Amino acid sequence: MAESQTQVKERAREVVSRLKREYPNSTCSLNYSSKHELLVATILSAQCTDERVNKTTSALFKKYKSPQDFAYANPDELSQDIRSCGYHNQKARSIQGASLRISEDYRGNVPDSLSELVKLPGVGRKTANCVLGECFGKPAVVIDTHMVRLMNLLGFTTTRKPEKIERELMEIFNQEDWVMLTHMIIDHGRAVCIARRPQCRNCVLSDLCPAANVH
Ligand code: SF4
Repeated sequence: MAESQTQVKERAREVVSRLKREYPNSTCSLNYSSKHELLVATILSAQCTDERVNKTTSALFKKYKSPQDFAYANPDELSQDIRSCGYHNQKARSIQGASLRISEDYRGNVPDSLSELVKLPGVGRKTANCVLGECFGKPAVVIDTHMVRLMNLLGFTTTRKPEKIERELMEIFNQEDWVMLTHMIIDHGRAVCIARRPQCRNCVLSDLCPAANVH
């Protein structure tokens, strides 16, 4: 029998509570020291590991210290500086375009609303929500590949469309858990519910997960 919405919400609460016990220190794994640096790091993280991004940004953020430094940099040089993250030409264009808008339209300050953030060149909902949740303390659900995969396995959605998943999860999970949920799901996706070889036998969510394979 299909779960009622109340049952889904109860299961969601239990999932969060168990994940909190498993990953009490779960946090954003990208290194940054300002809102703009997180924006840049998140743009770089598309199709790239956070570890690789952190290696790149440790030198990058010493060389480019402000939105203006990125905005008025030599495009070819910036592109080379982020080459190791992949899609470097496209990412350099996004970083420069967003930095230019932030410098010229927002006096160097990253805007604090979803509608303004997603209008910045190269900034999608994932990057925008990441910045809103991390830097502005606003309730935001970040949908990355781990969230898409695990939320489908856990039966909290049946779509792979990030925006739809975001809306559905906002109905199911408590608002105060939204930011932490993404971090914990990413940790769980890396440690236990690994793509193509989930370790269901060692998973604290196995009795709550319709996709559990414990036989
Ligand atoms: S029970 Fe298995 S499929 Fe479900 S979340 Fe845990 S590891 Fe992933």
